[in-house]
This record gives sequence, structure tokens and C-alpha cells, in this order.
Amino acid sequence: MVNNFSYSEPVKIEFGAGKSKELSALINRSGFTRGVLIADKLFVENGIVEKIRSSCLQITAVYSDITPNPLLSEVAAAAKLLAAERANFVVALGGGSSLDLAKFACSAVFADAPLTEYFYKRKAFTCKHLPLIALPTTAGTGSEVTAVSVCNDGLTGVKAPLRCENFFPYMAVVDPELTSSVPPFVTATTGLDAMAHALEGFWSVKHQPACDAFATAALKLIFNNLEKAYLNGNNLEARSNMSLAATLAGLSFALPGTAAVHACSYPLSTYYHLCHGEACAFTLDTFIKLNAAADNRVEFLSRELGFADSTAMAAEVRRLKKVFGLKTSLSDIGADNALDLAEKCVSHPFMQNSQVVPEACVLAKEFEKL
Ligand code: NAD
Repeated sequence: MVNNFSYSEPVKIEFGAGKSKELSALINRSGFTRGVLIADKLFVENGIVEKIRSSCLQITAVYSDITPNPLLSEVAAAAKLLAAERANFVVALGGGSSLDLAKFACSAVFADAPLTEYFYKRKAFTCKHLPLIALPTTAGTGSEVTAVSVCNDGLTGVKAPLRCENFFPYMAVVDPELTSSVPPFVTATTGLDAMAHALEGFWSVKHQPACDAFATAALKLIFNNLEKAYLNGNNLEARSNMSLAATLAGLSFALPGTAAVHACSYPLSTYYHLCHGEACAFTLDTFIKLNAAADNRVEFLSRELGFADSTAMAAEVRRLKKVFGLKTSLSDIGADNALDLAEKCVSHPFMQNSQVVPEACVLAKEFEKL
């Protein structure tokens, strides 16, 4: 293969245990003076928001009305607060849900049409937006380094990603200590979400060498640390390696985008109510097998990661899902029509970025084998 690619990533990354304590200095260095903190309610309840406010006097208000699948109505409410506070920057603290809501709100504050116009891609944001400093508190989505925001239209029930250059945060402050309180199930599902990002960045149609390198580094860290972080949430080394892995995995798919596993995750979340990471994990081993048959790079990748072959890598993913107690079969999720689910998966637009697009009847058979 002759290499020919473009790579750019606008997000400044500050990484390290305890980094979040430097937030005020980082805000000053950026020249920001008046901001709003958008935070998962959990951090209001456990006092972390108060600590941040007392050390960052540049923050004038807090928005925390955020549901795990953030709603456009919540984005609108946050944007209203940003306007009322005349904010010139935003800090987001939380998992992917809080970060994604904040990314959308930073542009929504300048919107001149209902947010559904942008969400359904009938209208595009202008480049005007507020700069965002993102502090992820889960090690999974990589949202701190991507231009994607996944939100939900509460009126129609549609959950969809929106990609917009504005949505790249200005800065990611990745402090693994913030993840030490993540409970085991969330540790497992967010970690497998990061694994899905790295694998999909690597095998997507739009993959490219710089992102492949991030993917390989992320996958090494995930296979060596996710189970440790799951078994002992206080293992700071494993937490730190997982935070690094999630950010690298974010970089690995930020440009190529995701593919079949994420295409399937949307029907699995919408109709069978799996959280995002569990929905991605559901088809991960299946698509390792299908992609390995189509692209010999997957075989090389599995050996680079220390597996005998891609079959062993898929088996390890399946073992991890069992250890984590995740749903791994159609009966586990209560699905009795494999073909109907498969049809919804193959018709998702993300399938177009997959090197492997199975016929619905083939995918249905794969689902039945799970
Ligand atoms: P989340 O933000 O929904 O949080 C999951 C749960 O973990 C919540 O109950 C939250 O309160 C809790 N939590 C978060 N941090 C915690 C901490 N430090 N300690 C204890 N509990 C904590 O979960 P997520 O998986 O990080 O984000 C999922 C969302 O991100 C989904 O909507 C998904 O579609 C989206 N997503 C976005 C991107 C992107 O590039 N923007 C990529 C992947 C997923």
C-alpha cells in the first residue's frame, strides 16, 4: 500500500494524574475570563463541582441537568445559561453524555433556528462557537478529542451523532484520578467502547496510518489494563492506562470515523436499551472475525497485540464480555427476530464506512450463533 493521507487534530491535550487541579491556571493561560461549568450531577452531589468552583473563580455558573442520553432540550437549556452568563468559555466535566451536551451547547448558543434543524442535518452551524475545555471522567468515549456529539431528540426518540468542526474541544484535560470512582459495570462498558473505537478506526474504509498507530497503541493498553481496572477501581496505574487508551482511541477514530460495530450499536441501544459501550461490545467479536476474513491487516494487528491470531483476539473479547457480565446473545437482550435486527444494522449509514457489509441474512446468522 502506498501511503497518502492528511492528518490534523486541533485539540490541545493535557494528560496526567492530578491535572484537573491545574484547571484555573490552564484557563488563565488560555485567556478565558468568564465561563460556565457543565457537569454530570454526580459531581455536584459529591462536592467536586464546589471544589472546582472555589479554585476557578473564572467559572460563574454551573449547569448539571444532564441525562445519560443527553436530550436536545437539555442542550437548549445549557445554551440559554451560557447566553445569560455571557460566557466566553465552557468547561465540561463528566462522561461522554456531559461532554457531548457541552459540545453541542457551545454552538447552540449562537443558533438562529430550532436545534432539531441542526440535529437532523437540515442546517449547519456557522463556525461561531464557544471554546470548550473537556474533562472526561470515564475512560471510554474519547469525546474529549473528537468533533462528534451524540444527542437525543426526546420527542421522536431518535439518538444520533452529529459531526461538526466546531465540536472539537479547545482543550482536553485528561486526569485519570477523575475515573477512580467509576463503578465496575461502567468501567467495563466504557473500556469496550474505547476498544471498539480503536478497532473501527483501524479497519474502517477511511483508516489512515497516523490513526492506525493510535489504534494499535490504544488496543495494547486496553487488552493489558481493562480487566485490572474492572477488578480493582483503585488501581491507579490501570486507570491511568485506560484513560490514555481512551484518548488515543478517540484520536484513532476522530478522522476515519466508526463503522459496522457502531452501525449495529444504534439499533441495539434504541430497541434493546443497551448502553452505548455494551451495544458496541455486543458485535465486536463478530466483526473481528468478519474483518479478518476481508483485510489481512487485522491478522497482523492481532499478532502485534500478542495474540496467536485474530480468532484468539475475538475469543479474548468474548471472554472479557463474560467476565464483565455483559449481555452476549439474542436471548440475553430479548430479541426474537434476528433478521429484523440485522436489517436495521446493515441499513445504518455508518455501515458505509465498513470494509465488510454483510447481507442482512448473513448478519442474522452471525447473531444467532452468539
Ligand atoms: P455517561 O457519560 O453516560 O456516564 C455513564 C454513567 O457513569 C452515568 O451514570 C454517570 O453519572 C456515571 N459516571 C461518569 N463518570 C463517573 C465517575 N467518575 N464516577 C462515577 N460515576 C461516573 O457514559 P459514557 O459512556 O462516558 O458516555 C456515553 C455517551 O457518549 C453516549 O451517549 C454515547 O453515544 C456517547 N459517545 C460519544 C462519542 C463521541 O465521540 N462524542 C463517542 C462514543 C460515545
